[in-house]
Amino acid sequence: MSTQESLDIGRKYASGKECIPYALTTGDIIKKTLEPGFDKDKSAFFMPTTNGPCRFGQYQSVQRMVLDSLGMQNTPLLSPDSNDGYSDKGGPIGSKFRRDAWRGVLVVDILQKLLHQARPYEANKGEADRVYEACLDEAGKVVSHNSSGLFQYVWEIKKRFSALEIEKIKKPIIGVVGEIYLRNHSFSNQGIIRCIESLGGEVRLAPIGEWFLYCTTMYMNNSRMDKKYLDLFKGYMQDRIQRRDESRLYEPFHNTLACCEDATTAEILGNAAPYMKDTFEGEAILSVGKAVDFAKSGQSGVVNILPFSCMPGTIVTALSKKIRGDYNNIPWLNLDYDGVEETNTQTRLEAFMFQAKQYRPHGACFTE
Ligand code: SF4
Repeated sequence: MSTQESLDIGRKYASGKECIPYALTTGDIIKKTLEPGFDKDKSAFFMPTTNGPCRFGQYQSVQRMVLDSLGMQNTPLLSPDSNDGYSDKGGPIGSKFRRDAWRGVLVVDILQKLLHQARPYEANKGEADRVYEACLDEAGKVVSHNSSGLFQYVWEIKKRFSALEIEKIKKPIIGVVGEIYLRNHSFSNQGIIRCIESLGGEVRLAPIGEWFLYCTTMYMNNSRMDKKYLDLFKGYMQDRIQRRDESRLYEPFHNTLACCEDATTAEILGNAAPYMKDTFEGEAILSVGKAVDFAKSGQSGVVNILPFSCMPGTIVTALSKKIRGDYNNIPWLNLDYDGVEETNTQTRLEAFMFQAKQYRPHGACFTE
């Protein structure tokens, strides 16, 4: 996890206009190079890229320049591209790395769902976190050995979470959407999930895996449009393999995980269709589609989190009023972060949680 030191270092290599994930990831890279024992000749960094309109496509170019300026011209910065679904055609990473990473992403999603489902109701404080950390650590070891081992390990994860003592109370469920880095990064979102839990809510976090499934879908759609039929076939195979891994890894949780079945990419795009066209590619359409999914499935509120000045996040913020109007005025909070602690965030969250507790849409899952 990043620290204040990561941010302080990263800001020295930023002009001040970049969004916070740039400063943090740059700071984390440099912090790693300063650790005792770091060997620039035996290390590589990983920063995916894209050619979309927001700043993310520039991260790896600028970070390459930073590494070069620090004398690390020969230290690779590996950057698979979202435009071919990260298949890294002809690149140094290869399909095995991609598949290992995909399985790892799915298991992290599962672990996060289990944690968020258990922690607000645990009878023994801190137990859910301890189980989560232990399983995450173990899952990492399994992936580094052979990611196929995860198909067996998920049954162990199920056993360990099922053993937690859970109190039988109900709490309002809050869907969290937004920029993918920020919503998964508790340092930069100032622990938003724990804040919601401390105010009496349970969180459903948009999964990381939805982005990879979406990128593969767009790879297929764009290959079809460009009549690149070999790429279309590759995208089709990638999609099938991803879905097969997903269904095998989720198999143990069908009866235990309330949010086991996520909306498919097609359903998310369908949800977002009244608000934006699917040719408008990127994160905004996923956040809109997932927020609608949360509203339709009776959650008590939606929080959209974004880095300050984030382009896709600002689009979601602009559309949020219309979406709320279409879905019973579901409580909705847009929160932006720039690395400086805002004193009024807590007050806004408290007011939002008060609304969420009062909210009673048709089919709401929260009853006091
Ligand atoms: S998605 Fe937002 S935060 Fe991420 S790089 Fe783009 S503009 Fe910055």
